[in-house]
Amino acid sequence: MRFTHIYVEERAYGYPLTGTILSGIPGAKVVTIRHYKDVFDRKRQNAPLQKEHQALIIAVRDGNRIFRGAPVCQSFGQKNFYYASSMMNCPFDCGYCYLKGMYPSSNMVVFVNLDDYRKDIEDKIKEGPMYVCASYDTDLLAMNSLTGHADFWKEMAQTNGNLLVELRTKAAVNVTDNISNVIYAFTLSPEEVMLRYERNTASVDARIKAAARALENGAKVRLCFDPVIRIPAWKDAYKELIDKTVSYVDFSKLTDVSVGTFRISADYLTRMRRAYPDSEIAWYPYVIKDGVAQYAPDADREMQEFVCGLLGKYTGMERIFTWN
Ligand code: SF4
Repeated sequence: MRFTHIYVEERAYGYPLTGTILSGIPGAKVVTIRHYKDVFDRKRQNAPLQKEHQALIIAVRDGNRIFRGAPVCQSFGQKNFYYASSMMNCPFDCGYCYLKGMYPSSNMVVFVNLDDYRKDIEDKIKEGPMYVCASYDTDLLAMNSLTGHADFWKEMAQTNGNLLVELRTKAAVNVTDNISNVIYAFTLSPEEVMLRYERNTASVDARIKAAARALENGAKVRLCFDPVIRIPAWKDAYKELIDKTVSYVDFSKLTDVSVGTFRISADYLTRMRRAYPDSEIAWYPYVIKDGVAQYAPDADREMQEFVCGLLGKYTGMERIFTWN
């Protein structure tokens, strides 16, 4: 891993995972801190600059760790939809990422008190089956070799039959298991979107091939065409992407497919514009509806219908989920 600075909360030293992570990044400068917020929530941080020299913060998460899913997130028809926050921020750098408007810092935080997350799940699951998106505010699979968080969620799924876990990624992860209640969700974007806006992610080809391999191994796989971005030749770009995907992936074996046009909380967009004054994505003239910045209704509908129409040739419309 490329971190040169690691901040460690005093109390995090008491957790074995802290030692494991530190030994995975030999040579990094380690600084002990009182609380992760002292570093992460500092005022007047330069988030774009930080992203170039991203530091890692190892901490203990108090308070809420599992949250109800927000309306802009897709629930895939699941009633008890939650997301977990066991890491904050991401090793990748997508120009459209809502985390740019959500957090004051680009540094990554890894929480090491996973046993508390286990207890949270075991308490909540008594009320009924749960669907947990474990990789919403980060990319757990991309970080798994260092942190083991994706492995933790897989183990949670294996020991709780009523728990359905989604692990979403832009890495070309080699999936070797096929746990029936773990969904590997690969996000796919046209080549041009990937090159322009998805810095440091795996190539689109590599992600498609990784999804195909996971399916062949019997894993549950979801393909996410989300966010759909209105680049100038967006129709050609999404057609090319879907044609390429179909040539590798057996759509009849997919768990489902998600399609989501770009949207972001209006508050996050305001903060993103302030932090990234040169960002094309942030400064696009979106419309605000119910506190959510999104493409104008006609454009939004056109994009969603076009992409769903292409996908509908290869999978039943009942297996295509959209956010609105
Ligand atoms: S991979 Fe996802 S979480 Fe990571 S920067 Fe890109 S959009 Fe954000």
